[in-house]
Amino acid sequence: MNLIIEQDYRAMSLKAAKIVADSINAAKPTPEHPFVLGCPTGGTPMGMYAELVKMCHRGEVSFRNVVTFNMDEYCDLPREHPESYWSFMHEHFFDHIDILPENVNILDGNAPDPAAECRRFEEKIASYGGVDLFMGGVGPDGHIAFNEPGSSLTGRTHMESLTQDTIIANSRFFDGDTNQVPRRALTVGVGTIMDSRNVMLLVSGHGKARALRHGVEEPVCQMWTISALQLHPSAIIVADEDACDELRLSTYRYFKQKNA
Ligand code: PGA
Repeated sequence: MNLIIEQDYRAMSLKAAKIVADSINAAKPTPEHPFVLGCPTGGTPMGMYAELVKMCHRGEVSFRNVVTFNMDEYCDLPREHPESYWSFMHEHFFDHIDILPENVNILDGNAPDPAAECRRFEEKIASYGGVDLFMGGVGPDGHIAFNEPGSSLTGRTHMESLTQDTIIANSRFFDGDTNQVPRRALTVGVGTIMDSRNVMLLVSGHGKARALRHGVEEPVCQMWTISALQLHPSAIIVADEDACDELRLSTYRYFKQKNA
């Protein structure tokens, strides 16, 4: 695992956007061999998406031959609801770049047969030969996608019940009202993420410092699903200084020097 530490949220977002653009450009994707990108939602990736939109407008990266798979979607929320992840992705990213609509894949949180929807999603990822780069964030409780504490570290796409921590954290998008936050979501599994050729997590702010410590320094453990990344051959975490508040000084210094 590599940990890239940037000064603040803006620098973290710029760095992450550059890694994404460089990865797409290096792959030289074509319609026959598109680049497959796993996408998160949430407050953390918004700066990165804004930067990628600018880079796309400047001609520095194109999403024309990119296929995306979003990592999760709420259940029991209409697709057009402003807080659905479908709405988030279109508002912050897809409506502003040159991606083809048919190349966007988002789980249907209202599918009549959720298990079949999850199978369909996994099969579609497999049909492209897997994900080239899965981007993600982390919850204060260490979850990646909606793989809450206690989730299988080899799990595939499935329905998950949100923990109270996550419901409270996400209530900021629902007028601070926890009652409005959906209780369930469809999410890729930790195993789905681990099968990707590359994984990049963004971690910002003191509120994520404990999760980052568990991801980098503590043992692999299903109660901190971020820790599974320790077993991935090509995982990068891009963090800002505040997110490093709980790392040992020696860990912090090691990664600062390594990436200087
Ligand atoms: P956030 O969410 O980026 O809004 O903090 C991350 C997550 O819960 O995975």
